[in-house]
Amino acid sequence: MKSFTKLKKLFTILPGVGPRQATRFVLSLLNRDETELVEFARLIANLKQEIKLCTQCFYVGETDRCYICLNPKRDASKIMVVEKISDLESVERTGHYQGHYHVLGGAINPIDGINAERLTISQLNQRIKNILSQKNKKPEIILALSPTPFGNTTAIYIEDKLKKLQDQIQITRLGRGISFGTSLEYVDEITLKDALERRN
Ligand SMILES: [Zn+2]
Repeated sequence: MKSFTKLKKLFTILPGVGPRQATRFVLSLLNRDETELVEFARLIANLKQEIKLCTQCFYVGETDRCYICLNPKRDASKIMVVEKISDLESVERTGHYQGHYHVLGGAINPIDGINAERLTISQLNQRIKNILSQKNKKPEIILALSPTPFGNTTAIYIEDKLKKLQDQIQITRLGRGISFGTSLEYVDEITLKDALERRN
């Protein structure tokens, strides 16, 4: 019973998991076979060693660059700025975006003590400057933050930060259609694809 309670408690540290859901997780694991559980435990135990954040876009990878940044077929002059890794994955699932990303690590949220310095905004700035120094295509920065008050605050902050580069870059936002207050990760693929095509 002790392991059951302990494991249950561990699951509740995950976002959105309450005690009832945690019980379901533990019971479901009980039904898997031993090898699967060992693999599961091994992956968790090695998580920090094996998974690293991409030093360019802050998505996950196994080296210092993720597979998106390493893909020569993707358009490096387009950077889609998202709050979270799960938002990036939602856009990837649409299969309709061939540029690069920049994961901020959240949105400016004074209530939770997340200020601009905690996000990767200065790294974004540096990245854009590097692209500009290569004098290739005019970079497009797509602000794909969630249409929430915190997402909007963050978008305005970034726009302001990039103001001095405004003649050299194009800043766009996702088109309307995503309902207000929805986190990007929960938007269905068709709506997201549409918002991507109608960016302005
Ligand atoms: Zn990357």
